[in-house]
Amino acid sequence: MDMMRDILESDPEIAALMEKELGRIRDGVELIPSENFVSKAVLQAMGSVFTNKYSEGYPRKRYYGGQEFVDSMEELAIERAKKLFGCEHVNVQPYSGSPANMAVFFSLLEVGDSYMGLDLNAGGHLTHGSPVNFSGKLFRINPYTVDRKTHLLDMEEIRKQALAIKPRMILTGLTAYPRKIDFKAFQEICDEVEAYHFSDISHISGLCATGVHESPVKYADVVTTTTHKTLRGPRGAIIMCKKADRYQKKYHPESKKDLAGLIDFNVFPGIQGGPHDHVNAAKAVAFQEALKPDFKIYAKQIVKNAKAMADELMSRGIKLVTDGTDNHLMVIDLSAKNLTGKGKEIQAALDQANIHANKNTIPFEPGSPFNPSGIRLGTPAVTTRNMKENDMKEIARGIATVIDNYNDSKKIEKVKADILELCSNFPLYPGMDMLK
Ligand SMILES: *Cc1c(COP(=O)(O)O)cnc(C)c1O
Repeated sequence: MDMMRDILESDPEIAALMEKELGRIRDGVELIPSENFVSKAVLQAMGSVFTNKYSEGYPRKRYYGGQEFVDSMEELAIERAKKLFGCEHVNVQPYSGSPANMAVFFSLLEVGDSYMGLDLNAGGHLTHGSPVNFSGKLFRINPYTVDRKTHLLDMEEIRKQALAIKPRMILTGLTAYPRKIDFKAFQEICDEVEAYHFSDISHISGLCATGVHESPVKYADVVTTTTHKTLRGPRGAIIMCKKADRYQKKYHPESKKDLAGLIDFNVFPGIQGGPHDHVNAAKAVAFQEALKPDFKIYAKQIVKNAKAMADELMSRGIKLVTDGTDNHLMVIDLSAKNLTGKGKEIQAALDQANIHANKNTIPFEPGSPFNPSGIRLGTPAVTTRNMKENDMKEIARGIATVIDNYNDSKKIEKVKADILELCSNFPLYPGMDMLK
């Protein structure tokens, strides 16, 4: 791209690293389920002059002048997000998923309040109550977890726990849970114990927007999502919410703000300063792309591809957590192959074969977070690359070979050759090379 040529001249060191990264993603299969490949249009929006502007505040209510085009851009992003998810209110300014979640905690809870969120080993996120994160330091987390045998969410157990704890908020959402979430059942529990329902659909929002996974938007008080995972937009996040604060009398008796006002106030000035207008422009571009019929086909294919990969892995004797997947991801349980705590080594061996995945904990992890017993795989990025079920099977066979021979560099090299061959059939960012 022409835009890149200047970097080549002014900063050859960074340009060379960009070129190498382009080669790395072209020559490998990207199976990290939180990653994706955005369109060139999204990349160009991020590289636009909107990066120069300061626009603290919200459209038509800013602290600086010169906002006529920024305002229209942010209004378009808002309008498109509302249409895509069917939400009442949306804030498109969060810099990323973690600050978005922080704004929700500060809107719904007081410091020290108790809430429930999915246990991290079972597939929750750092911001769902990790002791090293604000969510675990400032608020009292009561994690719910999956069933010890099936590794599925047991809604009756979760209900009992909620009745005992009476949390002020229940957080739903996942980073490594391979099955569908019953958002309606969670809402019924929230109603019963008068807790806010906060749903973080960062991983699955592309599936929710297209109806491939049920969306929590019609139930939950607040829904956050990153924009860069299955949604296939720039790094960033949005917060969607109901306008009305369902527990205003109970929890915010003094407040003059509705829920939408609380959320906006906690994003700016509560946590953030000026919005990243270039990224928000790219969010608008990505929402427009996600509103097109093609995106629904894409979302369906993500799930078909995940099923094909899961089935092939299991037929090769690999155990998956919950024995399969309903969504875009799956978790290999290495402990079933006597490889407990070997996630790190297997991840490194897969990387040597140009298969990029990440080590992950499994439910009731017998190893440790640094040496866990799982490998998490997902299909959003390879599906963007137009790979289909047969390609998934080929990749799965490569993964199985690497796991069974993770100390055998000759066998790993052979898999790498097959992966390179496969990748050469699926061009990625053609024409973006600077040096050619
Ligand atoms: C990725 C993710 C986040 C955090 O997003 P960042 O942009 O990395 O801060 C939050 N919640 C869930 C469920 C996620 O998967």
